[in-house]
Amino acid sequence: MARIVVTGGAGFLGSHLCERLLDRGDRVVCLDNLQTGRMGNIEHLFGREGFEFVRHDVSNHIWVPGEVDVVMHLASPASPIDFARIPIQIMKVGSLGTHNCLGLAREKGAVFHLNSTSEVYGDPLVHPQPETYWGNVNPNGARSMYDEAKRFAEALSFAYHRSHGVDIRIVRTFNTYGPRMRPDDGRVVSNFIIQALEGRPLSMYGDGTQTRSFCYVDDQIDGQLGLLDSGYVGPVNIGSEYEFTMLELAEHVVEVTNSSSEVTFEPLPKDDPVRRRPDLTLAREQFGFEPKVALREGIERTAAHFAAELGL
Ligand code: UDP
Repeated sequence: MARIVVTGGAGFLGSHLCERLLDRGDRVVCLDNLQTGRMGNIEHLFGREGFEFVRHDVSNHIWVPGEVDVVMHLASPASPIDFARIPIQIMKVGSLGTHNCLGLAREKGAVFHLNSTSEVYGDPLVHPQPETYWGNVNPNGARSMYDEAKRFAEALSFAYHRSHGVDIRIVRTFNTYGPRMRPDDGRVVSNFIIQALEGRPLSMYGDGTQTRSFCYVDDQIDGQLGLLDSGYVGPVNIGSEYEFTMLELAEHVVEVTNSSSEVTFEPLPKDDPVRRRPDLTLAREQFGFEPKVALREGIERTAAHFAAELGL
């Protein structure tokens, strides 16, 4: 049982993490500036024993009174729509925000856990991507603010680990989906499901042959907690190895939602990675990670969530 600070705790991933930590008996201090996080994601946690919420932008100095055992830094807008809309905030939370979280962890003698990303591999030239691959990132392109901020965050975490002896964990999160994604955050799973539910055409960017490997949020959180408890520093990939094209995803979504929607083709965004799939060998070896939720089932659960949220 620990007292754990979760930054970005009102976001999609963060809210699931807060809930799972409370379920296992940990106390949670949830920090979020609500720029992309939503109170609706954590409303059900108020009143639960050990849950505190503080509205705060972690790019500014952080102070949390009392003992803290772990600082888990998830705060960051993470959608390509946000990359264009709020690039400077993304760079600040990845750099200044990480610095502040590391400072808090050092002061409290706490473990620091960073949510890094598969985006550190950029448009990868090695496939699937093992943690030893250094990546192929455009340093000033359309996704650079996110990719480079996370690369900086990894480097800063290791600097604190090596210079100050801070105990760290670094997880590289691949595409994750599930209930509580923002309906308007522009990512492919939420877009396709909502378009299918509303009977509108599915917006395919490019020819749809690009691939991703989507991991259901419950599996993602299993992996993060596995790493935290293992004591292994990382970085470690967490995701799903089931790789599919966006055309295949569209077919699944149309079938699951029983929709009559067609697909329309739109231009591919700049620097959109051609393919992505994690090598999970390390996560398996270190803490027996194994994703369990099949794509079909995950889409069903996510579609049910959006149908209820949007009253469809
Ligand atoms: N994409 C798409 N239609 C959409 C949104 C995204 O075809 O409405 C594509 C996008 O170009 C990319 C893939 O789906 O190739 C995954 O996009 P997402 O934004 O979900 O994640 P990321 O690109 O960060 O992996």
